[in-house]
Amino acid sequence: MNDMLEKDLEEYDPELYRIIAQESERQRLGLELIASENFTSRSVLQCLGSCLHNKYSEGLPGKRYYGGNEYIDEIEILAQRRCLEAFGLSPSEWGCNVQPYSGSPANFAVYTGLLEPHGRIMGLDLPDGGHLTHGFFTNNKKISATSIFFESMPYKVNPDTGLIDYDQLSYDAKLFKPKIIIAGVSCYSRCLDYKKFREIADENNAYLFSDMAHIAGLVAAGIIPSPFKYSDVVSTTTHKTLRGPRAGVIFYRKGIRDIRKNGETVMYDLEDKINQAVFPGLQGGPHNHAIAGIAVAMKQATTHNFFKYQEQVVANAKRLCSQLQNLGYKISTDGTDLHMLLVDLRSNNLTGSKAEKVLETISIACNKNTVPGDKSALNPHGLRLGTPALTTRGLKEEDFDRVAIYIHKGLQLANEITLKSGPKLVDFNNVLKSDATIQQKVNDLKEEVENFAGKFPLPGLF
Ligand SMILES: *Cc1c(COP(=O)(O)O)cnc(C)c1O
Repeated sequence: MNDMLEKDLEEYDPELYRIIAQESERQRLGLELIASENFTSRSVLQCLGSCLHNKYSEGLPGKRYYGGNEYIDEIEILAQRRCLEAFGLSPSEWGCNVQPYSGSPANFAVYTGLLEPHGRIMGLDLPDGGHLTHGFFTNNKKISATSIFFESMPYKVNPDTGLIDYDQLSYDAKLFKPKIIIAGVSCYSRCLDYKKFREIADENNAYLFSDMAHIAGLVAAGIIPSPFKYSDVVSTTTHKTLRGPRAGVIFYRKGIRDIRKNGETVMYDLEDKINQAVFPGLQGGPHNHAIAGIAVAMKQATTHNFFKYQEQVVANAKRLCSQLQNLGYKISTDGTDLHMLLVDLRSNNLTGSKAEKVLETISIACNKNTVPGDKSALNPHGLRLGTPALTTRGLKEEDFDRVAIYIHKGLQLANEITLKSGPKLVDFNNVLKSDATIQQKVNDLKEEVENFAGKFPLPGLF
């Protein structure tokens, strides 16, 4: 056989192999605090690298456009069944589509299925902790395709408390009359009030669409309220707290339900709308390697170990939060119920960009974010920190005490740099790169962080 088909990557393409090996080391030596990231399991990675990748299977199980799909059908049916089991759903009430390539395509499929072009949606504004795909646009530009092809009106958090302003949402929804209200967050550290969302949706005869991409693992473990009781449609990614493959799932209510309009029975036909929007509406061949990965991840999600993991994720987030508060930092909403927290750096004379930059140079990965009340989204003053990835590596509360200290040292260093550079980010970056005393401190701190991180094992193939 042609040897390029047979050789190991290391042998065939050392140039690429070396870069992947470096990324692997970066992951091992760094403190990963990006709230949407995780380290998936060896078994999920084995699915992703399997022969399932080779197969075309457009359509749904039993209704394919190609032959040879008897095993693929079995896998997809298994994945669907396990998705329902992981969230305690009855197959007579809920169905799911496991084919979306990721969270954003899943959301676009929901809108495509449920709305006409220019149909109206309301989601939490991106700067307030929502997601791009909930209809984000700015003064100058429609940024997300979900605001180009549909009409969106955001709702907001209260700038003082950082909490979702449900009253304002209720008021605005009556004026805007959305067809879909979206309950879902990417940067918000409190549980959502799905009952309240349901009431507002009912007042306007709207669908309630919950996007649990960030929190799905916590929901599956049963440690935070589930959106299913009140929602018509629920979407999720499977690679964040769920710790599965990079993919998306859409859950839809089946048949006849009476949760909308105060007990009046309403006929749902969501199943066909969602399935047809995914394929042939938006996608072609399903990623069967990812669907197998979903099946494994959903099996894992029903175990006691997974429950313990999610419990630890939240315990770690609460600990990181209280340690940072002890060190004098302001946390948006003054705490967290979830896997993440948002540090408000406005009183520390620091921007999110500078904080993120310095932490990155000392091998701590996290991201800048707007905080409620930020004047400009281009110059945000928040830092989003999440615990799912490091909890997977086995860090406990005491370890997060150390993590809090490293973050604190990094931010103190950022303040020291600002004293030399003045407020501009370019000057700041120059001092960070070229000042000898700063360099020394960066290197010392980076070494300390990497020695600490390197002690915790990392699942994976390489
Ligand atoms: C991450 C996320 C998505 C999008 O997922 P991708 O896989 O990155 O496309 C959608 N909604 C929410 C709330 C998210 O946090």
